[in-house]
Amino acid sequence: MTDKTGMVYLIGAGPGDPGLLTIKAKECIESADVVVYDYLASPLLLEYARTDAQIIYVGKKGGDHTLTQDKINLLLVDKAKQGLSVARLKGGDPFVFGRGGEEAQLLLERGVQYEVIPGVTSAISAPAYAGIPITHRDHTSFVSFITGHENPDKKDSSMQWDVFAKSNATLVFLMGVKNLGNIVKNLVANGKPADTPVALVRWGTTSQQQTVTGSLETIVEKVRTAKLKSPAIIVVGHVVNLRKELAWFDKKPLFGRRIVITRARAQASGLVSQLTKMGAHCLEIPTIRIIPSEDTAPLKTAIDNIKDYDWLVLTSVNGVKFFFDTLFDMGKDVRALGHLKFACIGPVTKERLGDYGIIGDILPETYRAESVIDAFSGIEMQGKKVLLPRAKVARTILPEELTRMGAIVDEVTAYETILSDEGKEQLISMLTDKEIDAVTFTSSSTVSNFMSLLESQNAADLLKNVTIASIGPITSDTARSFGIKPDIEAIPYTIPGLVDGLLAYYEKQE
Ligand code: SAH
Repeated sequence: MTDKTGMVYLIGAGPGDPGLLTIKAKECIESADVVVYDYLASPLLLEYARTDAQIIYVGKKGGDHTLTQDKINLLLVDKAKQGLSVARLKGGDPFVFGRGGEEAQLLLERGVQYEVIPGVTSAISAPAYAGIPITHRDHTSFVSFITGHENPDKKDSSMQWDVFAKSNATLVFLMGVKNLGNIVKNLVANGKPADTPVALVRWGTTSQQQTVTGSLETIVEKVRTAKLKSPAIIVVGHVVNLRKELAWFDKKPLFGRRIVITRARAQASGLVSQLTKMGAHCLEIPTIRIIPSEDTAPLKTAIDNIKDYDWLVLTSVNGVKFFFDTLFDMGKDVRALGHLKFACIGPVTKERLGDYGIIGDILPETYRAESVIDAFSGIEMQGKKVLLPRAKVARTILPEELTRMGAIVDEVTAYETILSDEGKEQLISMLTDKEIDAVTFTSSSTVSNFMSLLESQNAADLLKNVTIASIGPITSDTARSFGIKPDIEAIPYTIPGLVDGLLAYYEKQE
């Protein structure tokens, strides 16, 4: 016996949009020793898990790596009996067609403690994201949640088709896509008018959401034409007509656009969250990883001698981060920098510097020579000592221009950018299958690294009809040097500029 008592949390993980997780569920995932999840729960939620948590995928219904329900139950019991806290993530709500009831019964039987954390069920949220209120005073006074999975040949069926057909209830079927033909047939055979509106919402609340509407008469054919597959919610009833008026999610400007983000994972989240808010489906293909410099001595020496410097020039958010990390690691704080003047390249670098309570004195917009000369014009740099912490491989314009102005420049390596091929296979297969609408490049190194991921593949062919979005002229030049022509160039040369560029581009396409 361990002295710690194990616990299983049956958690509703919501329908897909990670924002629809409850606060209680998030807290549970954050503290769990073991996280068990299946294909209906968004893998994004795993990011809340502790880095040392065991993450167990119990598979997709009918998939290769499926654990049977019995095995899942045993796994939960086993982990809890080891004294561990287990977060069992279930799509939507655990007690709405989620077999959460069976899991709880077994846990009870085996003497394992459990708690249930309800979730936002797809039965209401998928329709809501399609602009369909499942109740509305003008149309319906009640709602039924119905399994669409029941074998149509089952004797003693509990499906009361006559009741469903005669009521004015909104009928919400889960797990019904394969059985759609039978559902429609039974409703019509029991007297439901053939012109009753029907909607199917697939992967509701996610950026892959797809909606098909029709009537009992037309829906089967429409779904076949649209090749719509599971998982989807089927809504039958007059409230479906409200979608014409109330659709909102699929009207987002980048809805359905599949956009590749080629950034170091740690930096990608700003771009991903902005594009996702606009409705885009973002695929993060990290091409680079940023790591501290192997040799930290030069930066440490510079910081030890910081009193000798007049200027600190920061060229990127990574430069800012690694400079301050090292400063703090050395037991110093910002008071050591009080005598310095600060220059930072680009507004984002300035903002990050601001996070440390420091206002940049000078702000060249870009790395370009004119931009640097402009920013320093009227400032006496003769004989001034400049510290320039930056990436291992970096452009030379900045130190050259400063030296020309008479400054004494110390370049020290603060961090390194290394190649990452984490997403290589996924990228190549999606490009081959024409599943990508756009690729974004946020620096020259993302371009060259992206191209090295494609390696021997015919890049020009793979990128045909793919929109290329670049963060600025230098990145665009690098792209062109690889034979890729950017369709979009950000103005200003920032992440918000890039998002605006994509918005304007797709607006024009419509
Ligand atoms: N407990 C879940 C339902 C599990 S049954 C919940 O509360 O949502 C599985 C069925 O749920 C699928 O066949 C499909 O009908 C529905 N479903 C789950 N997630 C969905 C989503 N994002 N969009 C549409 N339907 C979904």
